[in-house]
Amino acid sequence: MILKYHFIQSSLMTVNKIYKQLNKYQKLNKKIFVTSSFQTHSIPLLHIISKSKVDIDILFINTGFHFPETVTFKDDISNLLDINIIDVQSQVSKNQQLNEEGHFYYTSDSDLCCLLNKTQPLEPFLMQYDIWISGVRANQSAVRNKMKTEQEAPFQTMRFHPMLDWNQKQIYEYRLKYNLPEHPLDKYGYQSIGCAPCTRKFDINDERNARWFGQNKTECGLHKDLIK
Ligand code: SF4
Repeated sequence: MILKYHFIQSSLMTVNKIYKQLNKYQKLNKKIFVTSSFQTHSIPLLHIISKSKVDIDILFINTGFHFPETVTFKDDISNLLDINIIDVQSQVSKNQQLNEEGHFYYTSDSDLCCLLNKTQPLEPFLMQYDIWISGVRANQSAVRNKMKTEQEAPFQTMRFHPMLDWNQKQIYEYRLKYNLPEHPLDKYGYQSIGCAPCTRKFDINDERNARWFGQNKTECGLHKDLIK
């Protein structure tokens, strides 16, 4: 299968432009999924998708290490937006994810832990679908700052990053306009929320520094390995 695209240059995608692009994919019979980490800033994209008439599967990569509040928030959002969410989980059981000391890999090799629990579980979806929508934003990290709105991914899949040039203010204003809730941990000072063992409270100087603190790691393989 060879996909043909006219690449979208990186520029702010308004909501109307996002709908237009989604409709275009649909007309081309593309099979589409979106991944969401179900943080506060993820919700506008999910809201846009829920209001589109385009058939898009919504995936939550459930590593088993999330805060219980994230799982509850995901269920609340599912009810609020009336969307079905597919839980994606590792095929490697947790008792096979222990290092020599008997601790989970995130204590000694977070890249391996992310590979087993995030990257590998997503690969079968990349093989089956044509378009992967991700809500990454350029201002979140140096890696994301180099991304394009459309970018090739493995298995002849195309990534679509409609929120790439949105900033926090635009996210906030969209949430305000549609009265969309915030993640329950936001009020305790968390802003970038991933797996519980690898997340700490907000650092005013660096949103993504709240993840994998103390390690030379700012991204998991999802946004480093599953992109060309
Ligand atoms: S973010 Fe941490 S706990 Fe989650 S998969 Fe990666 S290393 Fe494991």
